[in-house]
Amino acid sequence: MKPPILVCPYNRLLLDQIGGHDIVVRVENPPDIPRAAEDVRCSGKALHSVIIETRQPLSAFRPQDDWVGIPIALFVPGMGNFRDVAPWVGSIRDLKMHVYLSAGDRENLTSCRVLASLGVTCCLVFDTTEPDWEALSDLMTWAVFAPSSHAPVEPFHHVAVHHNPGAYVDWGVVYFDGPGAFLHLDSAGRVALSHRELQNGSFITEHVSLLGDPFENEGYRNALNAWRHYFLSDHPCIACEGWKICMGRFGMNGRHAPGCRAFASDMLAEIEQYKGRQQEEQAERAPS
Ligand code: SF4
Repeated sequence: MKPPILVCPYNRLLLDQIGGHDIVVRVENPPDIPRAAEDVRCSGKALHSVIIETRQPLSAFRPQDDWVGIPIALFVPGMGNFRDVAPWVGSIRDLKMHVYLSAGDRENLTSCRVLASLGVTCCLVFDTTEPDWEALSDLMTWAVFAPSSHAPVEPFHHVAVHHNPGAYVDWGVVYFDGPGAFLHLDSAGRVALSHRELQNGSFITEHVSLLGDPFENEGYRNALNAWRHYFLSDHPCIACEGWKICMGRFGMNGRHAPGCRAFASDMLAEIEQYKGRQQEEQAERAPS
């Protein structure tokens, strides 16, 4: 199995202490984007993405020519004034930057639609603020079913593509989350199972050089199967019809129920209908 990708702060010394993992690097400032990408490359690792989180709106962001070829995940609080974004939309799209926006801000749902219409991939972040479920549902329906061409809106695109009637869809990968795919390092090289655990000061090992094969780490193995605890503890999410496309992510582990529950179960039903229709059409087109 592929070793997890390490999400780490931009620190050349730390990069040199890591072996055998692809890297997501977090930078604080835009000028660090090309430097960090180059340092990951020079340290002999493959770059998965550069994450930059800013308190400025997208309208304050200016893409640069030396970012070409760098996968960038930009977390912003909002789009800002569209007139200020418009001149840069083509560059943002051509750079294939992914713009992350909180789903809890209703204005962001509108911005998502505008940006995706212009070819910019948007990723909604489900955090502690409860979304406007009705507006979210409209956006989801447009994102998944609208015939007009537009860029993906995540996590809806991921769910629609990976949905399989017999399996769960865990879309944490869009958000660099989930220990099966990502582990998180602090500046001292300590390893956490998620960014949230890192912020809470909870680590599975005191330095990345001690990580070795993560499957030999008990904390890591337990985390891979953490979703099973929902069943063992009879968690309310287990009774949710949308569980298999949510796994606790839309509504902070049921904290936003019943809104999240209605949303996720409607979404699942719509995707199942859509895929069923697609299969029927394919069967009709197939030579008899
Ligand atoms: S939609 Fe809400 S209740 Fe259902 S699984 Fe997700 S978080 Fe839990």
